Amino acid sequence: MVATPIGNLGDMTARAAQTLRDADVIACEDTRVTGGLKLHFGITTPLTPYHDHNADQVRPGLLARIAEGGAVALVSDAGTPLISDPGYKLVRACADMGHAVFPIPGPSAMLAAAVTAGIATDRILFAGFLPNRAKARQDAIAELRGLAATLIFYESAQRLAETLADLNAVLGARDAAVCRELTKLHEEVRRGALNDLAAAYADAPTPKGEVVIVVAGAPKVEAEVSAGDVDTALRQAMQKLSLRDAAALVAEQLNQPRRAIYSRALELAKDK
Ligand code: SAM
Repeated sequence: MVATPIGNLGDMTARAAQTLRDADVIACEDTRVTGGLKLHFGITTPLTPYHDHNADQVRPGLLARIAEGGAVALVSDAGTPLISDPGYKLVRACADMGHAVFPIPGPSAMLAAAVTAGIATDRILFAGFLPNRAKARQDAIAELRGLAATLIFYESAQRLAETLADLNAVLGARDAAVCRELTKLHEEVRRGALNDLAAAYADAPTPKGEVVIVVAGAPKVEAEVSAGDVDTALRQAMQKLSLRDAAALVAEQLNQPRRAIYSRALELAKDK
């Protein structure tokens, strides 16, 4: 599984180029696109098309080739294969048949966007492409509404304005970034609240190129804890600890704001 550049050929790793040279065959989405890459890197390995429309027919032949000891390299047009691109069924079949599968990691638009957006990266949900139809798209966005994780979407430039409008309508004015043409000559990252980005792109001519949208996740919700739970925990803690320490402990244990728990501890202490 060989990653290739998402625009800038300088991002091809030495290991990716060598793996493509050493393979017996390169399975690729579009032989013209990968043909260009071969030419640039002086690779002479033969190509065979492997894409959404022929994968089921072609896969048995590739597996037979591997069973005979051949090495098959899989690439997509750009970036990392399997990431919103074909390949997982081939990997699954290899695993089922006991054939080794090796990742040759490298560029991927989702990671390039994640590290450029300026939005939290501790939890990320990669949502790939949203559905084409408006209702299905809005429903798909609504499913992600409560998630406390940064959301990453692939999108075509033609549909960018429409999708930003839907994201804003369903998720509200969260922080977001539109990352366009990453690693290429006209690379552009626009950061802002979803409502501002949606308005800006609604009024502008359709941008050119490829786009990733990054959207901040829902704020982390504090666990729902009843007032009774808080009082019980505070009373117990206050038997052994100072009021301040008891409040700190309970706030930590119940994942509640310290200030609110401390005020409640004061009230309980007064009632005593
Ligand atoms: N497997 C690829 C990867 O690892 O990035 C993604 C393939 S997916 C079919 C193509 C989508 O990736 C585009 O529609 C766009 O959303 C995103 N993309 C690819 N190259 C990009 C780039 N240079 N800048 C921004 N987005 C890009």
